[in-house]
Order: sequence, then structure tokens, then C-alpha cells
Amino acid sequence: MNTLGKVLIVDDSQLIHSMYRLVLNRYNGCRIVDAMNGLEALDVLSRESDFNLILLDINMPVMNGLQFMEKLKAENLYRQIPIIVISTEGKEEDTLRALKLGAWGYVVKPFKPHVLYEIIEKVIIKKSPFLEKLGSA
Ligand SMILES: [Mg+2]
Repeated sequence: MNTLGKVLIVDDSQLIHSMYRLVLNRYNGCRIVDAMNGLEALDVLSRESDFNLILLDINMPVMNGLQFMEKLKAENLYRQIPIIVISTEGKEEDTLRALKLGAWGYVVKPFKPHVLYEIIEKVIIKKSPFLEKLGSA
């Protein structure tokens, strides 16, 4: 099994965090940090920026995923961290906005855990941006 390194999960649902952890725990030595909204995620990144992947929700209180990505884009330091946007928000304009802001992949909830696993493999391990929308498989 490949190693994945350090992953930041940004989602306002604790259930989603648990689900992602099940997938991420397949990777040896994967370290996971949790944030419940964009502002919390920025706070984490101000202290530690050496993440290998960010799993990002769009609809969150305080600061949503698109606002978070706009902030990141302004910070050169974080530009290199691959972001997979995973959101119930299936609106075409939000998909395009996320991709324009630099998302490596976009997945629509709900989906089965193996779908997330396959996207992480494509985007992070094989280093090819995954720019298709995927629904529940
Ligand atoms: Mg949400």
C-alpha cells in the first residue's frame, strides 16, 4: 500500500470525517488533521503547512470551501497542496469555480468509500488531475 502522508479534512459533518478516516486509514502512516470549516482549516495551515492532500467540503458555516480556496490562492505557500472538493453542492457554477480556484478533483456526495479511494489514487498517487464529476457509484 502506498503512503499518503498528511491529510487535512475540512467538513462541518463529523460523520463525514469518520467516513474519510476509514478510507485514509488504508494508507500506512497517514496522519489526519480535522477542521470543521474554512476558518479552522486556515488556522491549522498557519501552524503547519506540510499537508499532502486537502479533502474539502463546500457548504460549511463561518467560511465555506470556495471562500477557503480563495484565501489559499492568495497564499503562495499553500498553492502546492492538492485539493479534492467533495460536496453535496452539485451546481455547475460551483464546480467550475472550484476547478478555477485550483481543485484537483471534484466529487459529488453521496458516494461510496471506494470512489473516494479511487480518486485519491488517481490524483495523489498517480499525480493526474481528476476533473470529472462523480456521483454515487
Ligand atoms: Mg457541509
